[in-house]
Amino acid sequence: MASDPMSFKGVILRSSEFKDKDRLVKVITPDRGVVEFCAKGTGKQGSRFSFISMPYMLCDIVITESHGFYYLKDASIIESNAEIMKDLDAMMTASHMASCLIDCATADVSRELYELAVYAFYSLSVNIEKARLIYSAFNWRLLVLLGFASEYDRCTSCGEKIDEKSENKYKIKLGGGYVICSKCISSGYKTDGYRFLPARVMISLNYFASMPLNQIFSVRCDSKLQADLCDYTREFLSVMFEKDYKDPFSSLSYPPVLGIK
Ligand SMILES: [Zn+2]
Repeated sequence: MASDPMSFKGVILRSSEFKDKDRLVKVITPDRGVVEFCAKGTGKQGSRFSFISMPYMLCDIVITESHGFYYLKDASIIESNAEIMKDLDAMMTASHMASCLIDCATADVSRELYELAVYAFYSLSVNIEKARLIYSAFNWRLLVLLGFASEYDRCTSCGEKIDEKSENKYKIKLGGGYVICSKCISSGYKTDGYRFLPARVMISLNYFASMPLNQIFSVRCDSKLQADLCDYTREFLSVMFEKDYKDPFSSLSYPPVLGIK
């Protein structure tokens, strides 16, 4: 017998074909983490829930459980975030964010991850030209939520506050909060697993770490800073998730176009 229906809001992270006319859908929810359910018959013409094949929408969802599987009972769109699918950079960013969220589905910060997803996909949809910045802000806030990163406050060695006007670079450890100011950097240090970052990169990361979600995705910055933020957050994420995240904005990572040699 089917159980009582469960209703929740969820952002669709992935939707894939299943059997002939069905789809398997993964959503991130406020209280249940990532939930997977089967949407039956959505491949049939005229199906009421055919929209469920589009990722990144925020929906009201009702599912029922039967023999350990969840089945879609009802759904309606709250926010379609449809613009994402009209831009390649936005699509790459959204796909990256979705797979990160699926990778940390078991984290016990379900509500925070859900809220991050809601703001990130919506911001991306209304600001597709800011894909790079949204990518970096998402990466950093995710790392902070999971306890893998925190604000860069002062030099680990001498304790001096990070000087945001400083032109000097700071030595930072990938995968840790360790930061060394230029005064403390002596010659002959090892550079493996370290990066040298300008203060303004660290100040931007602190902004992503601490400001309300409705503000972190709408900042403006020049293209050099955007590139630095993308690179650093991607490398940091790769170390912490033990996964080699490719640069989604490098033309080399785009799928090859058939017929062109
Ligand atoms: Zn120092």
